[in-house]
Amino acid sequence: MNIENATWKDFVLELVVDYCTKRTMRTFHYKDFLKDNLTTIEAFRPANRNAPAKVRQQLQFLRNEGRLTFVDNRGTYTLRGRDILEGELPNENALIEHIKSAPPDKREYLVETYVRDVGWAKLAKEKYGHNCMMDGCGNTFRKNDGSRYIEVHHIVPLHKNGEDAIWNLSVLCAHHHKMAHYADNRTRLLIQSELLRIAESACE
Ligand SMILES: [Zn+2]
Ligand SMILES: [Zn+2]
Repeated sequence: MNIENATWKDFVLELVVDYCTKRTMRTFHYKDFLKDNLTTIEAFRPANRNAPAKVRQQLQFLRNEGRLTFVDNRGTYTLRGRDILEGELPNENALIEHIKSAPPDKREYLVETYVRDVGWAKLAKEKYGHNCMMDGCGNTFRKNDGSRYIEVHHIVPLHKNGEDAIWNLSVLCAHHHKMAHYADNRTRLLIQSELLRIAESACE
């Protein structure tokens, strides 16, 4: 890109693509994007005293054109279009960094979701099979290899001193797993006590 002649929009789009490629993640938060690229942004048109506002405006333009999508109302964007992002698959290091940087409660969910068929995850699936443990739930689906998709969940979270032991493990469909972590307190407690009851009777 010829910096001299580039428009603010070209400049911001290229910066977004670089940023997403570097992190191998399409989704970014406006504030982080700004903070991580501030030096470059301020150097683009040094005479402009309000570069951050300018960047935000360009992100809106890019969004109107469909190059970006708004994920939430707090400034989270995701980059669209396969053609403009190389290295589509998240590499493992980026994933590990992503997991490490999450707060403890969120981190646990991410680990449980990404860890497959090793150690405690294997143990839980061997013990409980591949059907969601919530009563009456038939909400699992088959993967390409024919096996059923299921997620392993710690009934008492590890960050609250739960253990990787069979009596603290459960298997849930993706929907119930998300609920177990992110629903309101009352719902989460109901799920927890239901799972404890099932796991306890299974481990007698
Ligand atoms: Zn979980
Ligand atoms: Zn379920």
